[in-house]
Amino acid sequence: MSVVQVIPIGGVGEIGKNCTAIRQGDDIVVIDCGLTFPNEEMLGVDIVVPDFTYLIENKKHLRGIFLTHAHEDHVGGLPYLLPHVDCPVYATEFTHALIRNKLEEKLDVRSLKLKTFKPGDVLEAGALSVEPIRITHSIPDTCAMAVRTAHGIVLLSSDFKFDFTPVDGKLSNIARLGELGKEGVLLLLSDSTNVERPGWGPSEREVSAGLRKVFLESPGRVLLTTFASNIHRMQQVYEVAADTGRKVAVVGRRMEQNIETCAKMGYLDSPKGVAVRLDDLRHYQPHQIAILTTGSQGEPMSALVQMSKEEYSRLRIQPGDTLIYSARPIPGNEAAIWRTINRLFKQGARVVYESATPIHVSGHAYQEELKMMVNLTRPYYLAPVHGEPRHQYLYNQIVQDMGYPEQRLFTLQDGVPLCMDDTKAWFGDPVPCGRVLVDNSGTPGISDEVLRDRYHVAKDGLIVITVVIDPEKGELVGDPVLQARGFHGPDGTLDRAHDILWDALRALNREELRDVNKLRHDMTDLVRRFIHKRASLRPLVLPTIVEI
Ligand SMILES: [Zn+2]
Ligand SMILES: [Zn+2]
Repeated sequence: MSVVQVIPIGGVGEIGKNCTAIRQGDDIVVIDCGLTFPNEEMLGVDIVVPDFTYLIENKKHLRGIFLTHAHEDHVGGLPYLLPHVDCPVYATEFTHALIRNKLEEKLDVRSLKLKTFKPGDVLEAGALSVEPIRITHSIPDTCAMAVRTAHGIVLLSSDFKFDFTPVDGKLSNIARLGELGKEGVLLLLSDSTNVERPGWGPSEREVSAGLRKVFLESPGRVLLTTFASNIHRMQQVYEVAADTGRKVAVVGRRMEQNIETCAKMGYLDSPKGVAVRLDDLRHYQPHQIAILTTGSQGEPMSALVQMSKEEYSRLRIQPGDTLIYSARPIPGNEAAIWRTINRLFKQGARVVYESATPIHVSGHAYQEELKMMVNLTRPYYLAPVHGEPRHQYLYNQIVQDMGYPEQRLFTLQDGVPLCMDDTKAWFGDPVPCGRVLVDNSGTPGISDEVLRDRYHVAKDGLIVITVVIDPEKGELVGDPVLQARGFHGPDGTLDRAHDILWDALRALNREELRDVNKLRHDMTDLVRRFIHKRASLRPLVLPTIVEI
């Protein structure tokens, strides 16, 4: 019988760009297709998506892409894969509505095969099938995915927590997870993001009390920033505002769009008369106002960041305002977030970013919840996903403490298939994998060389060498010109570099001057070495040879 391969295209040993292929013979199903955000060394990079080469090369075997939920780290890569493959994309109605808004900005959605499912459906995919199971997280309609293979169920937990008082009242289908355990889970791929946190995570419901407290003690307007997809958080803001006599307006395009979509679909239910338009706020006193805003990650173009810089024409910060920071910084964004918070304080606002009663809770399972998932589903093999190496290590330690033998636990790597048959599991030959950097224009494929050049220019500046030669005669015309931008070194560095270059050029014979490629290389090398020796700087050196 066919070997079953679980191939992480992205999302293991890292948090972000989740994408897993499960292959049996000629059938492949893909679970999620996410993006991640650049680190501080990736200058000018907007987003990072997985290298989809393996999926594109095997496109005739793709039976479907199945989405667990609408977070960017699970769906944001779709615009970069879908133009190259031709298979259906399955999602819940909610996830579908949210991704549709975003896909429309980049692709012709009519040409896509977007399909919806309900938790509990069984979706056929060649010899494989996929069953979504409802699970609680920080966005509505999240599903774990049970992929039935010839050797048992491969269960992807998705991002999850066990929240027994979810805001929408829709509980994790714990009973079904238990049944799958009885049927036979071959492999559990479990969320491990919060494996460092002991105990049980607090319920999303607990945020209501924290919000209520801040709403009541704030004398002026209350602004709240969170992820534009955090519908349950926004639902609680509407409820708390109704209870405390405030109206709610929304600023930020994505948030306005999501709220409108969710209200239409019945996923958001604001108490009557609470929601108002931004323009209508002038009819109310500051203590009667609450405002939902984007910008929780310090995004430069977001409403909150622009307000903090007094550049947002629709709304200005006033002394006496309170901002509730109701989100978690995505690693890498901390500095931008603190800058925004500091600017708000400078304008006379108060920012609440920590509180004894929570104003934010995580959507990911803590240790005891992770153990509960293992106990419910009783998998034969286990592998943590959605975690960095330290999370993977700790997860496997915890599971060993629960009695699992080490040889049934795996630390996966992107691009390395985990192969399984009826008797054993082993790592297969790697498939192409990696990261693809996308810039603000949406163009994928920024190379390491481009990044390296940007890094040198950003750090030490740019030096342009211009030399004019007469190729006929094999002679220099005038002496070389060195121009610099963004360069700062000891006085006279450039003059000295010029003199050394001039001396070297004059020593060349006709043939050497005619060899333009070598000349370009040697000039760059000479100037680069001199500046590094004298000033310990590595500016980008750009040689130009003009032939007349
Ligand atoms: Zn995630
Ligand atoms: Zn998520």
